Amino acid sequence: MNPHLAAIAKQFLARGRIVAIDNYGGGLINDTFLVETDACTRPRFILQRLNAEVFARPRQIMTNLTTIHNHIRTEHAGKVRLQIPEIIPASDNALCFQDDKGDFWRALTFIGNSRTLQKLPDVHAAEQVGLALGHFHHLLSGLDPVLLHDTLPGFHCTPEYLRLYQEVLEQTEADLQSDAAAFCLAVIADYRQEAAVLENAKEQGLLQLRVIHGDPKLDNFLFAGDSDSVISIIDLDTIKPGLIHYDIADCLRSCCQRGQPVIFDLAICRAIMPGYLSQVSSFFTRQDYRYLYPAMRLLPFELGLRFFTDYLQGNRYFKVTAPQQNLHRAIAQFQLLQSIDDQERAIGEILEDLCPR
Ligand code: ATP
Ligand code: MG
Repeated sequence: MNPHLAAIAKQFLARGRIVAIDNYGGGLINDTFLVETDACTRPRFILQRLNAEVFARPRQIMTNLTTIHNHIRTEHAGKVRLQIPEIIPASDNALCFQDDKGDFWRALTFIGNSRTLQKLPDVHAAEQVGLALGHFHHLLSGLDPVLLHDTLPGFHCTPEYLRLYQEVLEQTEADLQSDAAAFCLAVIADYRQEAAVLENAKEQGLLQLRVIHGDPKLDNFLFAGDSDSVISIIDLDTIKPGLIHYDIADCLRSCCQRGQPVIFDLAICRAIMPGYLSQVSSFFTRQDYRYLYPAMRLLPFELGLRFFTDYLQGNRYFKVTAPQQNLHRAIAQFQLLQSIDDQERAIGEILEDLCPR
């Protein structure tokens, strides 16, 4: 067992001995370990080193987590249908531990008998994802978003990403003549006028700030080990004040993309949306319905734009195993956007059927 890791894990152990510490899960941002102990209560827990390059203020993340747990406990006691990882405090009762290298570590309760999925197997599993995200938004709908820190300022602000893109484009040394780059340039030129659609709606008071997850992609939903039920939503580092449309559309973006070239899977969308909306009917407004389709188009554009910008500036943010990987990732997102446009009428019908008269 790595002695440095063992010393850190011990900070979170009230009783018992550590038996094993292993890398766990497939996360790309933080370093995640499963700690096994011989303690009778809570014999296993998750230990994570927070990525300091992504999160400048780790303590704010932990304060946000405490705020949402306190809210859920007081407002929804006995009616919570998801397990949401809880903080295990360090021995001095602090929410996280800073080691002598300056790294921040935290411990979370382990959601056992669970698994992540890389692809949704069927519409039943898709409905479960919609229910879970809707339930999560419902649980936090009464929490004033100003009580939360914005742990990643600028995250999901498409006009800002567009500004950076413009700056990078003027200085890039990447080949812009290839068919692949030309495709990306053309999609961005076509769509850029719409990049502020959600931010403008927020400014105009048409959409309101609420508490969002920030990263509800498929592998942040934990399914039961032995059934298609979603039992948990994890990866709560990006919880912040925001527009829930970013969450819904990012979830659809991640769950509905399939094939090569990438297309938008209507059947999965048709299953996710009723599940989601069944949970949020108490606060979802007519304007919220109206902005669903623009949000569904915006999120693949935003991510494609971020991948392409990163490609143009030499892959600084998104890790790559090949120099053109971010270019290919961008193309996949832009294909998804085009597929959404191609199916505008069918998607419109799905959303219209779900909108209360
Ligand atoms: P991402 O790449 O999704 O941003 P990340 O590095 O932020 O990931 P997490 O998503 O928090 O890390 O965790 C990585 C993986 O560890 C998850 O996909 C899941 O398999 C597992 N995991 C994390 N927290 C828990 C938990 N509390 N209980 C069970 N498994 C967990
Ligand atoms: Mg994750």
